[in-house]
Amino acid sequence: MTFLRSTCSYCGVGCGVLIKKNPYTGEIHLKGDESHPASRGKLCSKGMNLHHVAMETSDRLTVPRMRVNRQAPLQEVSWETALSRAAAVFKGLIDKFGPDSVGFYLSGQLLTEEYYIINKLTKGFIGTNNIDTNSRLCMSSAVVGYKKSLGEDAVPVSYDDIELADCFFIAGANPAWCHPILFRRIEAHKLANPDVKIIVVDPRHTQSASIADLHLPIIPGTDIYLFNAIARVLIEQGKMDAAFIAEHTNGFEHVQAKVFELTLAEYAEKCGVPAADIVQAALWIGDAKGFISMWTMGLNQSVVGVNKNLALINLSLITGKIGRPGNGPFSLTGQPNAMGGREVGGLSTMLAVHKEINNPVHRQEIADFWGVPSVPDRPGLSAMEMIDALEAGRMKAIWIICTNPVDSMPNARRVEAALRKANFVIVQDISKNASSLDFADLILPAAGYMEKSGTMTNADRRVSLVQKITDAPGQALADAEIIWRFAAKMGWQKSFNYSSYGQIFDEYKMQTKGTNIDVSGLSHAYLKANGSVQWPFASADSKGTPRLFTDHRFYTPDARANMFAVAPDNASENTDTDFPLVLTTGRIRDQWHTMTRTGKVSKLNKHIPEPFVEIHPNDAERFGIINGDLVDVRGRRGDVRVRAKLTETIREGVVFLPMHWGRIMQRDAGRANNLTHDLIDPTSKQPDFKFSAVNVHKY
Ligand code: SF4
Repeated sequence: MTFLRSTCSYCGVGCGVLIKKNPYTGEIHLKGDESHPASRGKLCSKGMNLHHVAMETSDRLTVPRMRVNRQAPLQEVSWETALSRAAAVFKGLIDKFGPDSVGFYLSGQLLTEEYYIINKLTKGFIGTNNIDTNSRLCMSSAVVGYKKSLGEDAVPVSYDDIELADCFFIAGANPAWCHPILFRRIEAHKLANPDVKIIVVDPRHTQSASIADLHLPIIPGTDIYLFNAIARVLIEQGKMDAAFIAEHTNGFEHVQAKVFELTLAEYAEKCGVPAADIVQAALWIGDAKGFISMWTMGLNQSVVGVNKNLALINLSLITGKIGRPGNGPFSLTGQPNAMGGREVGGLSTMLAVHKEINNPVHRQEIADFWGVPSVPDRPGLSAMEMIDALEAGRMKAIWIICTNPVDSMPNARRVEAALRKANFVIVQDISKNASSLDFADLILPAAGYMEKSGTMTNADRRVSLVQKITDAPGQALADAEIIWRFAAKMGWQKSFNYSSYGQIFDEYKMQTKGTNIDVSGLSHAYLKANGSVQWPFASADSKGTPRLFTDHRFYTPDARANMFAVAPDNASENTDTDFPLVLTTGRIRDQWHTMTRTGKVSKLNKHIPEPFVEIHPNDAERFGIINGDLVDVRGRRGDVRVRAKLTETIREGVVFLPMHWGRIMQRDAGRANNLTHDLIDPTSKQPDFKFSAVNVHKY
């Protein structure tokens, strides 16, 4: 068998992989795809071990399981019984309590076709917008930031802009560990061009900071102070692009007035960064021929996440450094298909193809496309709002697909309590190690990566194909097939009469026709033959679109980009004498999410085998802790017990916990989300993972 072209299923970089299965031994071989424009043959440790995850199936769910009531044990059942029960429960609840009594919680690792069909089922046929995804925990602040400033959820740049830039401003991100192959490109570019400037903003001196020309270790939550300070210096030093501002933007006067409300010295004190470093960062940005800002969870996962995004995008707009080679804001997507999910409407606050719920024309267009009278006119519940609604009894049933909220959502013990209160919980997953299974009334075994073919959209709008290499174990089915079988049970077979993911893609692409995210020129066959492309891609002879806004006409109604004067205040929970430290959380290099896949690869477990808390030696001394001590980290919502790792690479007053370990992996003793707050940004509804008040005590 020859190698098949596919795409890594972990982070949003979307590296190209070549995979083949030996038909005699069953062994799967994998290597980097030299022809892939993003990764050029390289893979990080996680990507290199994808085949080990696929070949080891002893942890896999292989048969549907169901319990008749909460006291009864789960028992193996046929697909016929499982889906009949799901349909009966959903029909019963919808008849009695209305369509908003049910909801779907999905994942940025689903394929676009899967997202599409679940979105169609929910919004078009069940009649609720209660479909949200873990992208809400990941990118929703960036989505709103782009929409408000540029008119649409659209990343303007391409990976190829990296080699054309001479100034990188990386804020709230550690791409060296979380987007490694993208970071390798920056590193190689810097090595070849030592004058390229790299500025890293992070309270921790991460591996990304190790190649920085300037590391700004800000006080957590003060990002907007820093960005406004830089804006002030850019304006003061005449580094703005006055012609671009006048011709292509709105709101500059308000931004100018706002950023001049504080002096540079006041800004420096607020964010804990020397004034001279702020000036240096601003001068490098202002003088750059190519300025790329990069950010991810450090900005997005905040109660003021949208404002952080807007304040950062202001820097590109003030300097006119957007829509030009090597220039633009570049949000680094956490998951491989968070963007694809948003394209088909996989958030409760939007419709398919970036259309708006509050626009009656848009709603009718979507309804007509699906052949239904209407789609609901009010936003559905976002991820955390679903937990609120389950807790309050307003939502009765939740169907969780391809994600593990019991470990990955903030305030985890509250999430567990809400799921216990639900009338009916369906968990559709690949792994027996997903902690959320403990709360399921119905478990549906799904096919995993390499067991189905479909598309994903990576961080620079690149649509790529994931190909089936091997069969799913036991009775596991591809996620979309589970949904189209369920839809048939609900009586909607005619509208869900699919037999392949290619058919679903062909339907979806026609929905994009004429929109800003038009992919009507694409097909599975095209992607298989030609490799990945960047949208828009409106005809088969298109070359794709590496860079948006090259004419400086934005997707806003007046074609001008919007700048916003944002107040710098943070609204996270307060620290006090009982909980004096700020907890921040994040990924480690070799693990992924809640470890249901990477946790079973021994090579990956060797890097960092157990959870830990990073703490500055001065804080450790205050609490009587030495390196390696077992400590309790306590907050207002819970606690964890982990080993202390003393390091001067973290800012005093801040502690760090990795996000990966959870209920099953560590009986919740290392679950960071026991401590995190479920406050959400009022607009993006993204939780405030990166700022929780805690203390630390020796066990
Ligand atoms: Fe996969 Fe991301 Fe690593 Fe690339 S950088 S191999 S997409 S995990």
